[in-house]
Amino acid sequence: MSFSELGLIPELLRAVEEAGYSEPTPIQRQAIPVVLEGRDVMGGAQTGTGKTAGFTLPLLHKLSRWANTSASPARHPVRALILAPTRELAMQVHESVQTYAKYLPLRAACIYGGVDIKPQLDELRRGVEIVVATPGRLLDHVEQRSIALNQVEFVVLDEADRMLDMGFIPDIRRILGLLPAQRQSLLFSATFSDEIKKLADSMLKSPQLIEVARRNMVSETITHRVHPVPGAVKRDLLTWLLLEDVAAPQVLVFCSTKLACARLARQLQKDGIAADAIHGDKNQQQRTEALEGFKSGAIRVLVATDVAARGLDIDDLPCVINYELPPTAEDYIHRIGRTGRAGKQGNAISLVSPDEHLRLSAIEKLIKLKITQEIVPGFDKDATSDSARRILRNQNADRRAHTSPDRERPRNAAPDTLERKPNLASDGFDFNRPYAETESKPVVPGKTSSPPSAARKAGRPIPFLLGGNGR
Ligand code: AMP
Repeated sequence: MSFSELGLIPELLRAVEEAGYSEPTPIQRQAIPVVLEGRDVMGGAQTGTGKTAGFTLPLLHKLSRWANTSASPARHPVRALILAPTRELAMQVHESVQTYAKYLPLRAACIYGGVDIKPQLDELRRGVEIVVATPGRLLDHVEQRSIALNQVEFVVLDEADRMLDMGFIPDIRRILGLLPAQRQSLLFSATFSDEIKKLADSMLKSPQLIEVARRNMVSETITHRVHPVPGAVKRDLLTWLLLEDVAAPQVLVFCSTKLACARLARQLQKDGIAADAIHGDKNQQQRTEALEGFKSGAIRVLVATDVAARGLDIDDLPCVINYELPPTAEDYIHRIGRTGRAGKQGNAISLVSPDEHLRLSAIEKLIKLKITQEIVPGFDKDATSDSARRILRNQNADRRAHTSPDRERPRNAAPDTLERKPNLASDGFDFNRPYAETESKPVVPGKTSSPPSAARKAGRPIPFLLGGNGR
């Protein structure tokens, strides 16, 4: 099926073609006709499925009858409201709206907190048809009477489950109460809890349920791997993986707290890795800079909290590392949804200390997959900060020697220290709690990573992920 078969206007077809999309994704194939028909939608779609275009394209199609070039603000009332949980996601959706609307004289504004409200006031005063907003700042505008919502015809709630997690539901209910009852409403969520269903019941009228991937499922193109590791040497293992093992040019690392996130980024920098942090304590400009540095490749490793990373769309992100497992199993799905997007291969690595085994079990239950576990030699239960640092120092020296022309050494040869380290499989990972098995078995066929390679079994570090040696 092509986009033109969906009946979209030529201005949109042209924009879509220029965006390089040859055919609609499954969510687009399903959602576009339903939205064009005027029905409410309850959409279950993961990030990376193309859901933004799935709702934006039909909205723009319907709004096109209002498109005009008049300078009068009265000719540009707010007709579509898209609510997103974070600034980054709002910016991304706004960017998509602008991409798809480039041949239509429709105006779109992005309204989010943490920045000066004045430019937003000016933009709203001039008139805009489409507002993409985070709930808190939108309510600030409502209170200042800088926005009128009485002509809104379409409302979209994007990432509703995250809105719930972030405590936005009362704000959302307040906003919905300000909209005309006669409107079309769309709700998208990667997961559906009872609370989300309750919200949907109060917001949507006989909605069409659209689901592209089964709920709580992760992309089939992602390879999962767990490295059991004592908490004390986690940071060293991360450095080792980034320098020696993960060949990915871009890696998104998740941390649970803002503090840990900032500290980890600094530590990685000290270890010679181009890293930056993105979390809620950074101002908008710092967050934008970090994200842009990452997208451009100037920064290899972006350390992020769940909230800050929500909805980030980074093309071709090959690897996500969970420095800590998230407290909520569903967040694992959101985190790793940054990789393996749009059918591409992705890697999800988790560093798991013994106190996190309950989290791991909950995640495995949710995604219906036993994740392969590998203890990295040298970072096993006997490892201490000192021994781990020694490995990194040796590794550094080895790398220097390795690049020196007068020393011949096979490219992936292991340093002596690591060659003597006990092997993970034979070592029988225990750590006094543990995981059900040292090596996991796929429960869902075709959904797990391969077992440890021969080289790894022999206790040698090899670049298992992407074929390179990570330098
Ligand atoms: P989303 O799930 O909306 O965050 O979209 C994920 C990514 O897929 C974005 O980078 C979009 O630009 C891209 N995308 C959306 N629709 C298509 C399509 N039909 N073909 C190819 N890429 C697409």
